[in-house]
Amino acid sequence: MSIVSQLKSVRATLPAGVELVAVSKTHLAEAIAEAYGAGQRLFGESRPQELRVKYETLPRDIVWHMIGHLQTNKVRMIAPFVALIHSVDSARLAETIQKEAARCGRVIDILLEIHVAQEETKTGWAWDELRAWLAGDPLAAMPNVRVRGVMGIATHTDDEAVVRRDFETLRSRFEALRPRFGEAFDTLSMGMSDDYPTAVACGSTMVRVGSLIFGARDYSLK
Ligand SMILES: *Cc1c(COP(=O)(O)O)cnc(C)c1O
Repeated sequence: MSIVSQLKSVRATLPAGVELVAVSKTHLAEAIAEAYGAGQRLFGESRPQELRVKYETLPRDIVWHMIGHLQTNKVRMIAPFVALIHSVDSARLAETIQKEAARCGRVIDILLEIHVAQEETKTGWAWDELRAWLAGDPLAAMPNVRVRGVMGIATHTDDEAVVRRDFETLRSRFEALRPRFGEAFDTLSMGMSDDYPTAVACGSTMVRVGSLIFGARDYSLK
């Protein structure tokens, strides 16, 4: 199956109001150009260097999302152009994004990544730590950061009940945080190639689909 036909079949399964982030990490510009030719404008990457190079070489109307774990010393590389950072999982990272966004005169949209999976290695805030951090109203000192919602990754398992439970937890965290942030807090990023239909059934507004569109990656990335 071609990238274009895969893209179309994924799109056909998404209800109105659910955005598709085409996760192009590790894939070459030609693959992205194919998806672009079929009308896809929203792409997700997980390595800052790779994201930067693709931003510089591909069409300017592409909307780039950073979806992978982000080190604070790499924020500067993507701050001038990134449209949404999905993976904000520490106070230090949020503070760095504030600093770099201010430096380039932008407001950068972010999602709070919340840990729900059973694997300990998965990134994201523990719910209690996130709540404790937010209790101090840290965003009041971050005028260049706008919190748009929540992102999460479900446990990697064939057990659909476990995956569903993880997504339902994310949905309830999203609902719990919503009153604090108001109108702009409208994005629940959850669902990947293997589990996005379940995520959509649980209220996802943004799915991040890579291998189902572009095929298997040459090397594996978290
Ligand atoms: C790589 C990646 C995806 C896409 O994974 P696929 O299984 O290829 O769809 C989604 N979200 C994050 C955070 C990723 O790192």
